[in-house]
Amino acid sequence: SYRKGGYHAVRIGDPFASGRYIAQRKLGWGQFSTVWLAYDTQSSKYVALKIQKSAQQFAQAALHEIEVIRSIADGDPSNSKCVVRLIDHFKHTGPNGQHLCMVLEFLGDSLLQLIRFNRYKGLELNKVREICKCVLIALDFLHRELGIIHTDLKPENVLLLSTIDPPKDPIRSGLTPILERPEGGTLNGGSTMNTIEKKLKQRARRAIANISSRRGSMGGEALKPARCLDGIDMRCKVVDFGNACWADKRFAEEIQTRQYRAPEVILQSGYSFSVDMWSFACIAFELATGDMMFAPNTGEGFSEDEDHLALMMEILGKMPRKIAVGGARSKDFFDRHGDLKRIRRLKYLPLDRVLVNKYKFTDTDAREFMEFLSPLLEFSPEKRPSAQQCLQHPWLNLRSSDGQSKVDAGMNKLKI
Ligand code: ATP
Ligand code: MG
Ligand code: MG
Repeated sequence: SYRKGGYHAVRIGDPFASGRYIAQRKLGWGQFSTVWLAYDTQSSKYVALKIQKSAQQFAQAALHEIEVIRSIADGDPSNSKCVVRLIDHFKHTGPNGQHLCMVLEFLGDSLLQLIRFNRYKGLELNKVREICKCVLIALDFLHRELGIIHTDLKPENVLLLSTIDPPKDPIRSGLTPILERPEGGTLNGGSTMNTIEKKLKQRARRAIANISSRRGSMGGEALKPARCLDGIDMRCKVVDFGNACWADKRFAEEIQTRQYRAPEVILQSGYSFSVDMWSFACIAFELATGDMMFAPNTGEGFSEDEDHLALMMEILGKMPRKIAVGGARSKDFFDRHGDLKRIRRLKYLPLDRVLVNKYKFTDTDAREFMEFLSPLLEFSPEKRPSAQQCLQHPWLNLRSSDGQSKVDAGMNKLKI
């Protein structure tokens, strides 16, 4: 990935855009890019510099992403819609070719890191509500005002506003002889693809389908101590528009990251804005419980898709026959009665029971949270509320009694 067409190797102190931006440290990386904290000498502020791989297909993807985030910036002049802001973009030529670079506002940890820092215990419900509001504001804006579907909403792609102050004295010139390799670790313990995969595998193991008790041992996994989250304003922004599309210009059949994928995408029965609402519900569940809502696996005699559909039905009830048989891929999974062909016995446990039995929610918390989530998890995409409707839901304005839900009480013991 460090060859022609691949990543651009960055040294701390490297200048970009004729010296306007100076690389400070690496923030993260993805399949398409490395992302660096950079100092903007013009505005005297820190920014995030996303440096795309140079090969043609990556350049094209970057042009698309720039087009999307530019229309977002144009539609949100006051920068109040909880989506990442594009500040600038330019081309940078290096030994591996020409790299498109996006200058973005500098944000903080992702929700995945937040869940992890919190030892997968689930956040206090009041904090979940705050995050949900931000994500819904972003989705309402993208969907209703811009006609954009994100198509890859997941905890990694929602970043908290940075709560860590970057260094007071920025590195101003390229004298530091340290090369940070894209595939190496990052200073914030962030995301190499391998680590993400490992994390996902570890997390899949504790997914609700597979664990008996979430409050048992941590499986020997070395985790950072839970962070004290008191007083942190839980504001966040949606990032990574590399896969976003306009609803009237969809290009991919298979969208979304597996665990956050809506049933109509698996069945290939057409999709629209409501796929983001499905992913949003999965994220809300994960924030509140620390576990992924659906973590399907391939098994003996069935595929990951089939396991996924089975997990959905176990929590949400049987999929209406019309929907089950209505997609281009339905015949791969369902018989003509709308029953799964290869997974015959489902263990039904409704969402509120899962919340009480497995996650020790109070009956009230469970019922209220389920009333918020279950409309978003309707098998029929048309029945799911829009982000605008969801923003009106009373759950968002509830306050857990004396500020302490059961989930939070468990968390306090872990504070250091
Ligand atoms: P993917 O393979 O997920 O498509 P990508 O190459 O498109 O990745 P992003 O997901 O945009 O890259 O960014 C990679 C990582 O860099 C993020 O997960 C995050 O850790 C970090 N990052 C991205 N944008 C910012 C930002 N504005 N501020 C701080 N960190 C950021
Ligand atoms: Mg990403
Ligand atoms: Mg991307």
